[in-house]
Amino acid sequence: MFKKRPRGKKKTWQVEIAEERMHILFSEADRRFKTYPDLSDRYVEMARKISTKLNVPIPCELKRQFCKNCGAYLVYGANARQRVNSEKQYVIMTCLKCNHKKRIPYTDEKKKARKEKEKKD
Ligand SMILES: [Zn+2]
Repeated sequence: MFKKRPRGKKKTWQVEIAEERMHILFSEADRRFKTYPDLSDRYVEMARKISTKLNVPIPCELKRQFCKNCGAYLVYGANARQRVNSEKQYVIMTCLKCNHKKRIPYTDEKKKARKEKEKKD
């Protein structure tokens, strides 16, 4: 997958470790969500702390999995609602905890859907 990188800067091992940790935290959040949703929020909090402390942005695929406003781990269908605006090509993700809305470019979703489909075939 194509990843945006800061221009002229090479990825250091610290950045790689930070990203790996964030991925681990989010997969833990996902695993615990059904039984302990509060714990999932804690994992999000930890990931955000890593991000600010080490000045490493949260990977874009993880960014859409939490609410920037209240820090909740978002699961579509459980505590988040998705609405597609096909005309303007974006998806609105609404956090049902605080009602915060965020816009996600639609093209990414399309690509993701295609990828998922390929996996199934
Ligand atoms: Zn929220």
